[in-house]
Amino acid sequence: MHYFSADYIFTGNGPLLKAGIVATNNDGLVLEVFKSKPKNLKREEIRHYRGIICPGFINTHCHLELSYLKGKIKANTQLHGFINDLMSVRENFTQIERESAMIQAENEMIKNGIVAVGDISNGSSTFSIKEKSSLYYHTFIEVFGSDPNLAKDAFSHSENLFNTYFNSSAVSITPHATYSVSAELSRLIHQHNVKRNSILSIHNQETQSENEFHKNGSGKLFEFLKIAEKTKGKFIPSGLNALPSFLQKYSNESKITLIHNTFTDYQDIQWAKNFSSSIYWTFCPNANMYIENTLPDFTLFLNEKCCIGTDSLASNNGLSVLEELKTISKHFPDIPLETLLKWATVNGAELLSIHQKFGTIEVGKKPGINLIENLDLENFKLTPHSKVVVLL
Ligand SMILES: [Zn+2]
Repeated sequence: MHYFSADYIFTGNGPLLKAGIVATNNDGLVLEVFKSKPKNLKREEIRHYRGIICPGFINTHCHLELSYLKGKIKANTQLHGFINDLMSVRENFTQIERESAMIQAENEMIKNGIVAVGDISNGSSTFSIKEKSSLYYHTFIEVFGSDPNLAKDAFSHSENLFNTYFNSSAVSITPHATYSVSAELSRLIHQHNVKRNSILSIHNQETQSENEFHKNGSGKLFEFLKIAEKTKGKFIPSGLNALPSFLQKYSNESKITLIHNTFTDYQDIQWAKNFSSSIYWTFCPNANMYIENTLPDFTLFLNEKCCIGTDSLASNNGLSVLEELKTISKHFPDIPLETLLKWATVNGAELLSIHQKFGTIEVGKKPGINLIENLDLENFKLTPHSKVVVLL
């Protein structure tokens, strides 16, 4: 039996508990949450910490398979430059280098208080690590292809991966991004998902030229990906931003998370809310700074279901949900810390359908117990020195 207490406890389910106490067994199963010290509990039995105790973090967007690219891709080249660099270096690494980078990356996530991950996979290289891991993974098998004639082959490759995955309830087939999937391929993915109530993850509006791509059939991304050539001139611009142009092919999906949303505007958000009540907006601010040197306008999303992702080590210096929150807090200091913690815990658990176990500190759950230290508790804000310690 363990009793943890701190200046505050963010349970994710109700108000902050000042000097509350969480009781768990050795496995981290929450047995009791006390608002204040019960009379029969001795002070010396309680471990008291400075800071905030919160549930384990949910990282809703990562690419574990790209971990070997840490520090290998130039920053601030915009998305088309990033993709270009990624394609030119990715063959230069051995199997052993890739494997050890993935193991190291996973250990880093564990050390940083992450308990569950929504992870993108293009191949099967991460599957055996995931099968043995103490982390919970939902794997999004990613598929792409702008040439409609190649849709069937691309889809059947992803279907094979889907069928070999070790946990059939924690895997989906998902389109890569709004700009890289033909209408025919979308149709195949959608058909597969709707039947299974799968969770969908889509890279969305990561760069301005992604909107131009759909609106006018032009721009850096449209040129770089040679869309006119691949579609034999049949691409029809929608006159709309990337999000409504692409997402309308995915009606009646159970849950959808849109990743990045850096160039999503107010109208896009309203459109998405009308389209589905199960949209989750995943933000990876450090990757946005790395690739585009800009951030989404978070103030547009304060009433939405937001989640936090680290993206991959190809576009980030570390895999830490807290570091992502610190970046948001630095640029948008008015967003309350409780809101940020909700994005990092409760919402992600709900998206990945693991809220029975993770996301809140409640009796009967095993959410992981994190301590955030070095906060500005007077103003209730993260500081550049805030850090996470895993208590259990
Ligand atoms: Zn990504």
